[in-house]
Amino acid sequence: MQAWRRSWAVLLLAVVATLAGAAVVRAQDAPALRPEPVAPGVWFVQGASALGSPANRNFISNAAFVVTPQGVVVIDALGSPALARELMQAIAKVTPQRVTHVIVTHYHADHIYGLQAFVEAGARVVAHRAALEYLNSDTAALRLKASRDELAPWIDESTRLVPADVWLTQRTTLRVGGVAFEIEPLGPAHTPEDLAVWLPSQRVLFAGDLVFRGRIPFVGQANTRQWIDSLDALLKFDAQTIVPGHGPLSTSARQDMRLTADYLRHLRETMGRAARNMEPFDEAYAAADWTAFEHLPLFRVANRMNAYNTYLQMEREP
Ligand SMILES: [Zn+2]
Repeated sequence: MQAWRRSWAVLLLAVVATLAGAAVVRAQDAPALRPEPVAPGVWFVQGASALGSPANRNFISNAAFVVTPQGVVVIDALGSPALARELMQAIAKVTPQRVTHVIVTHYHADHIYGLQAFVEAGARVVAHRAALEYLNSDTAALRLKASRDELAPWIDESTRLVPADVWLTQRTTLRVGGVAFEIEPLGPAHTPEDLAVWLPSQRVLFAGDLVFRGRIPFVGQANTRQWIDSLDALLKFDAQTIVPGHGPLSTSARQDMRLTADYLRHLRETMGRAARNMEPFDEAYAAADWTAFEHLPLFRVANRMNAYNTYLQMEREP
């Protein structure tokens, strides 16, 4: 083969290999939005155990929907308007009913950036009033600004933060088409505005980010002490099935909440001891034993920040 032909062939092979590699990455990073049955009339979609990226369209959290004779109730709005529209298309394949309500378990970006699509389709948004502080904060505005860069084209200039139509402050029962949704405030835990949604007719509990499965939880500014307490509150529902904020369905509540509970306890123990002994964070972090958690997705990107936030919190905790 002539030299120039050989180099073209090599280049072509390289391009094909790169495209094939990209396709593999894309297939892994971009889970299809496919509703899975939870109980009769109840479905959920499961996001990837990953950071949000253009490749996964910020599909990194779960959402669920419940079909009633007079409308569909969605729990959490997913991480981009495009995903929310995709979810509505998936709902339309299951029922001719339209989405009447979206209950937001908490105002974190991956659960709320889809809200505007539901509102445009005529749905009412229900959330806990404690979210207002975040919603009106510079943090939320800066987060959105950064997401427009990091998650383009899924998050762009037209993506906006959407307040609730109904702000709750206490336990509330929403009835749609004769189906009761018991909405229970459990914050401040993962966030000040945490809501769990209990569907007594099917014994299904939508736990939001109080329950993480199959990945390292995101701690952020959480109140870890009350988060652990809130897990006990969730157990009292005696749910048959729990839809977590991240990860697969749970049909064995106590066992499946163990990861979240053990992780939070470990953070509080190791970082609490360091804070009490006035040991510098870096030393305490290096000395802590992470072997029970380091195999989990997102350990490398989330654990150090989770530990640091917990360290700061434990310094302030009486
Ligand atoms: Zn989340």
